[in-house]
Amino acid sequence: MVEAREVNHLPMFGLTPDLESLRSEVREWAVQRLRPRAAELEWKPDPADRVAWDLVEEASAQGWRTFGLSREEGGSGADPLTIAILIEELSYGDMGFAVLIDQCIKVQRILASSAHGAARKLFLERFVSDPRCILAICFTEPETSSDYIIDGPAFRFRTKAEQQSDGTWLLNGYKRYISNGADAGLYCVFACTDDSRPAAQGTSAFIVLPSDPGFEVVQVHEKMSQRGNNNGALAFNDVRLPADRLLGEAHAGYAGSRLILKESAITAGATALGTAQAAYDLALAHTRERVQGGVPLIQHANVKCRLAEMFSELEAARSMIWRAAWSVEHDPQYDYKMSSATKLFAAEASMRVALSAAELFGGLAIMYQDSGINKCVRDCMSFLHSDGAQDSHRIRIGTMLAEEV
Ligand SMILES: Cc1cc2nc3c(=O)[nH]c(=O)nc-3n(C[C@H](O)[C@H](O)[C@H](O)COP(=O)(O)OP(=O)(O)OC[C@H]3O[C@@H](n4cnc5c(N)ncnc54)[C@H](O)[C@@H]3O)c2cc1C
Repeated sequence: MVEAREVNHLPMFGLTPDLESLRSEVREWAVQRLRPRAAELEWKPDPADRVAWDLVEEASAQGWRTFGLSREEGGSGADPLTIAILIEELSYGDMGFAVLIDQCIKVQRILASSAHGAARKLFLERFVSDPRCILAICFTEPETSSDYIIDGPAFRFRTKAEQQSDGTWLLNGYKRYISNGADAGLYCVFACTDDSRPAAQGTSAFIVLPSDPGFEVVQVHEKMSQRGNNNGALAFNDVRLPADRLLGEAHAGYAGSRLILKESAITAGATALGTAQAAYDLALAHTRERVQGGVPLIQHANVKCRLAEMFSELEAARSMIWRAAWSVEHDPQYDYKMSSATKLFAAEASMRVALSAAELFGGLAIMYQDSGINKCVRDCMSFLHSDGAQDSHRIRIGTMLAEEV
């Protein structure tokens, strides 16, 4: 079980010994346990067989699945920087698994801050005690996907929840692309509860269970990336939710969504970075071994330059991620633009690094099961879209800039 890390209130330019040891501990597990298992499961014909449930149990035993909960709640009390380190290193082994765990951490951070009374009890009882219980968060709908990131004045979720005279809520709608969507034990669902007001004042968040009548996984998306978790399309047809499934106050669900966007954009960057670092390390080893033109590839000037650029991009992305993750927790003047900027830069830098790595592998990169590089490219591509399309983060930053005086 990983102990909660000591909070260092000084400006953050490096890792504490505790964080360094977490980093190497997770790296070792990711390389020894996760990477080979992910390669074995990736192309199983049935999506249900692609999730490494045995490793989910191991991650639970390590305390990673519940990492963001307080110790009293059964977690490790990890802060955003510690979470970013964990997720980067898991993604070094397999991005699909890193996302599976990260979704759990995202949702538990929302629920820990907004679930009260019976909702909190339900969540903690189901989630903490069951080592295979994973969580999912549901924003994306066909008609409004990027809107929740861009957040213009006309945006309302199309999924709706109406409160009935007996206090229950009737939930109707459709969400898609939801990570862990096919396998979750508990869903956090955002719905419009007052469309006469902007989303910030008319959105509520609810806990939905897979056993709730009217809930259905209508599709498991077949993906090129992150095949170690399953994305689902979910239908909610007259799902009747008891009053205590509401998270926080009615119409105030946006607070949870903004909290998670602020932190999850940073972790999204860390997820992309972990896989890009893996691609770089594979490429570096390959260029030391493969001989062409009479010398190892790494002796050629163009290869040296390419590796130097990859190294620089990885270091720049990591610096942004660590600083943003530290600041989001400790800096009262935290600049919200940093969250989107971190995701924006890290996702694109990671894609460039993965493509460069593939270039250094030559034709081997195309033979998809003969090296791990092809998987790194496919996985990195997902973060140009996952956690918000790149341009929607650009628009978000630009809008904040335009509003600054
Ligand atoms: C692997 C993966 C996992 C995901 N997991 C989850 C999850 O767990 N939960 C969840 O809720 N969602 C999830 N998503 C959804 C993800 O957050 C959305 O895909 C993302 O927000 C983009 O939406 P879209 O794909 O519909 O693109 P679109 O909204 O169709 O965007 C397409 C392009 O148009 C641009 N665009 C869109 N709207 C505007 C606008 N108003 N102005 C200018 N440009 C615009 C975008 O920037 C983008 O370049 C996941 C997606 C992926 C790929």
